[in-house]
Amino acid sequence: MTTAPQPTELLIDGERVPAADGRTFTVLDPSDGTAFAHVALAGTADVDRAVAAARAAFTAPEWARMRAADRGRLLHRIAAAIREDGERLARLESQDTGKPLGQAVADVEAAARYFEFYAGFADKLGGTTVPLRPGLLDYTVREPIGVSGQIIPFNYPLQNTARGSAPALAAGCTVVLKPSPEAPLTPLEIGRIALACGLPPGVLNVVPGDGDTGAALAGHPGIDQVTFTGSVPTGIKVAQAAAANVVPSVTELGGKSPFVVFADADVEQALTAIMGASFSNAGQMCSAGTRLLLQRGAERFLDLLVERIAALRIGPGLSDPDIGPLIAARQRERVLGYLDLAREEGATFLIGGGAPKDPALADGYYIEPTVLTGLTNRSRVAREEIFGPVVTVLAFDDVDEALDIANDSPYGLSSYVWTRDLDRAMRLAENIRAGQVYVNATGVGTGVELPFGGYKHSGWGREKGLEALASYTQTKNVCIGFGERP
Ligand code: NAD
Repeated sequence: MTTAPQPTELLIDGERVPAADGRTFTVLDPSDGTAFAHVALAGTADVDRAVAAARAAFTAPEWARMRAADRGRLLHRIAAAIREDGERLARLESQDTGKPLGQAVADVEAAARYFEFYAGFADKLGGTTVPLRPGLLDYTVREPIGVSGQIIPFNYPLQNTARGSAPALAAGCTVVLKPSPEAPLTPLEIGRIALACGLPPGVLNVVPGDGDTGAALAGHPGIDQVTFTGSVPTGIKVAQAAAANVVPSVTELGGKSPFVVFADADVEQALTAIMGASFSNAGQMCSAGTRLLLQRGAERFLDLLVERIAALRIGPGLSDPDIGPLIAARQRERVLGYLDLAREEGATFLIGGGAPKDPALADGYYIEPTVLTGLTNRSRVAREEIFGPVVTVLAFDDVDEALDIANDSPYGLSSYVWTRDLDRAMRLAENIRAGQVYVNATGVGTGVELPFGGYKHSGWGREKGLEALASYTQTKNVCIGFGERP
């Protein structure tokens, strides 16, 4: 049974509206390529309308004069409503993106957690007093930055909608959010839920569309801040567009993260961790640990890895398999292109290497989970973000070599280290140039509490955790003289 999509119009100023020029686009079910929804395509005029609504809502008394504690309560209500609607949201997410239903259920919980986590900060964003001298009172105020333009990718629409909008709303900002044209449905649902919970009209606007829609938003003179999640080339364009209006941007971009396994690692735990880090969401994760750095002498790890992979079930997301389809035909072609390149570069395929042979999967955008050996860190397949279920194995001898290979990357998003040796672990944790280092740990919950972001080409700024609030506030200093003046 499939989930019938609900809203297919834009959400602007609290109303569901068609695009000004009436255009729509079709969303395909990645498990079989059939049309799944027709969604209004926001053009420049719609982005203008949404930004104007967000601007007006930013200063309207219902939002601007709402007590901070009430803003927090409202965010808690949104969290609860997301959970209440969880089953429907998860099914919609699973069918829209192709991800296994169980993973979509986890995404619902993460989305609820974002609202819950930031709800608690709404009434704690206080400033400081600055000691000067008697007769001078100096204090700071953390004010909401204004209208936040948010552009998100296809891989975690529920999570990314909540990840950007919850801290922005907690800070008192208003938001115009542009989802990916490949996965626009649950962001519209979050907008609808927030409205039903009492969020004033215009505070959260959702305008699905393509790259042109995103460009219109990123370069709009009416926004005060941009949060972008997506690929490096698009992130550069978005940051340039924001800079042209002298507004700050957060860029959460791609990755090719090292998963370092020493010979003394707890093999069972490391195996479970790499299965999640490489093959969840069919490998379409910015933080995917798809560069497996394996200490020489620990090759048995590969036999066990291949055994686990061989047992994975591939199928439509709604059947809750281990691996679902990729998001779209263009993404499958991209991954197949990298598998051809791996052959040219002389890789050995330990398992996988193409589309599954099962005729029942022929119409979907599936790729077999794949493990490649025989490459060095100079090969393109080892260096570039593939964004599919493809792991490249690279060998090292000691901690120095592991560190060199880990850091020899244009990216610096995540990293994973598995060893029982504390000194080794700490040397890597201290010296890996990446926004996150996990040592003998993954699956620490939904992770909304942890600051997340990249070094190098993986972007700048931080989302999640306390740090995200910095993007949505700005500091005003107030200095008051009183009494007798010197
Ligand atoms: P993408 O860059 O193609 O698209 C991202 C978003 O930008 C989409 O909504 C798209 O419509 C929009 N867009 C396209 N052209 C634009 C333009 N010129 N101006 C403004 N917006 C424009 O990325 P994708 O294929 O949807 O997602 C995959 C990428 O996202 C991967 O590189 C992945 O690593 C990255 N990602 C990063 C994080 C993170 O937190 N660091 C999280 C998820 C995904």
